[in-house]
Amino acid sequence: MRIVRLSSVRRVAALLAWLSAFGIAAEEEHGGARVAASSRWSAAMTRADVRLGRVDADHDDDYLYRLPYGDDVSFPIIQAYGAKLSHRGAEHFTLDFAMPVGTPVHAAREGVVVLVEDSHDVGCASGECAPLANFVVVLHSDGTTGEYFHLERGSAEVRVGERVARGQRLARSGDTGFSTAPHLHFGVYRTGRDRTTESLAVRFKTRSGAVGTPRSGAHYLNAIE
Ligand SMILES: [Zn+2]
Repeated sequence: MRIVRLSSVRRVAALLAWLSAFGIAAEEEHGGARVAASSRWSAAMTRADVRLGRVDADHDDDYLYRLPYGDDVSFPIIQAYGAKLSHRGAEHFTLDFAMPVGTPVHAAREGVVVLVEDSHDVGCASGECAPLANFVVVLHSDGTTGEYFHLERGSAEVRVGERVARGQRLARSGDTGFSTAPHLHFGVYRTGRDRTTESLAVRFKTRSGAVGTPRSGAHYLNAIE
């Protein structure tokens, strides 16, 4: 799952025009990347309303990600890369982990928190609920973002601007937004010049070695670090 409306250029332009009419910029410079300022984000906005990360970032393909949960636990992948229900197009290289509501979500990679939304409490199996997802977005050193969706209301443990370590707890999983069952949607994204985002294939460091193509139905444990 996740928000599917990613190329809403006109929507963004309209929003920016509205914001600038009030003398507010929706984005600001942060570490060389344009990110949303926490004070300017509103729960009425959607993730697609802000451009995050470095445009045309060059992803570090040598980086081995952690699985986005703790040690000694694992959760089955219910949608892997290219899964038919909703991991197509811009969402092709993302993963859904079946996770009970309230499960700790951990950073798959270190970075700086650039966006947090945890005020929503509604989820449903329809795109209409997409704007109601809670999430945390972490900016990586290569300008890509790690994004964690459908989180439980009020569960964020990090703030915008905070530097987070690999494996650090971010929030608890939930069932908010466009979601048919409790799960965590995780993806690494890059913003293109046309303001659209695309997900990137990333590899994971599991207890049984590096995994480049996680499989639907599989469980993976984090490597001991
Ligand atoms: Zn998903």
